[in-house]
Amino acid sequence: MAISFDLSGKAALVTGANTGIGQAIAVALAQAGADVAVAGRSQPAETLDLIAATGRNAVNIKADLSSIEPVQRVIDEAVAGLGKVDILVNNAGIIRRDDLLQFSEEDWDAVMDTNLKTLFFLSQAAAKGMVERQNGKIVNIASLLTFQGGIRVPSYAAAKSGVGGVTKAMANELAPKGVQVNAIAPGYIATNNTAALSADETRNRQILERIPTGRWGRPEDIAGAAVFLASPASDYVTGQVLAVDGGWLAR
Ligand code: NAP
Repeated sequence: MAISFDLSGKAALVTGANTGIGQAIAVALAQAGADVAVAGRSQPAETLDLIAATGRNAVNIKADLSSIEPVQRVIDEAVAGLGKVDILVNNAGIIRRDDLLQFSEEDWDAVMDTNLKTLFFLSQAAAKGMVERQNGKIVNIASLLTFQGGIRVPSYAAAKSGVGGVTKAMANELAPKGVQVNAIAPGYIATNNTAALSADETRNRQILERIPTGRWGRPEDIAGAAVFLASPASDYVTGQVLAVDGGWLAR
């Protein structure tokens, strides 16, 4: 049997795809043959154009994912536009930085709600159709802070560690129902999320010194792993958190 990375005939939903890692994943899924719906709070015009340029269908769903209020509507609109959701990529996420001793409840709740609570309930809503069809792929965007504590980002470390946990919990329950659930832990990728870090000369130098590959990652560096985890080539892979980090965790 030939190994297949082909996503022809599949429908994908990617959250937070107007920019950065989400945009790169949405476009790569379309290049691999999937129709793609993107859900987020900002206008994803460039992403929609890039998907359309591949010849695949693109659907835009406006939703603020800082609460679970829009979750069922997002799935309903994706199904209305594409017929189904075979692949869900939970990418939308935020980070808040502050010293531990003054870290606010607002910064705690905002990160936990967007990065973990919405990820779980959107997965739950998408999984219902996947289970009916006995076929589906959920790819969560985790972080190196799924494994490490980080500096001045306690709610982000807690949420991303939680992403590792729910990835495995969902994988266990959905595996017998034909649905694989995995996560990608990106290393240091140059996006809006990390602009403050790369602008800080000291932190930028410290980060680069530790990356064996010797450079920041690009959003496209994450896309290949996402296509793999969305494709039949990964049908026997579930409950994993795959680091795509230029070797950071190997040090
Ligand atoms: P980014 O450019 O800031 O992208 C984050 C995306 O999430 C944007 O599309 C953003 O939309 C969306 N988003 C945030 N809050 C939202 C909300 N309430 N409702 C809807 N959409 C929302 O950063 P990125 O680096 O590509 O991050 C993508 C994912 O990778 C995140 O989960 C992040 O934690 C993770 N990650 C990034 C790195 C890295 O080094 N860059 C490393 C590990 C993990 P707006 O444009 O409207 O804010």
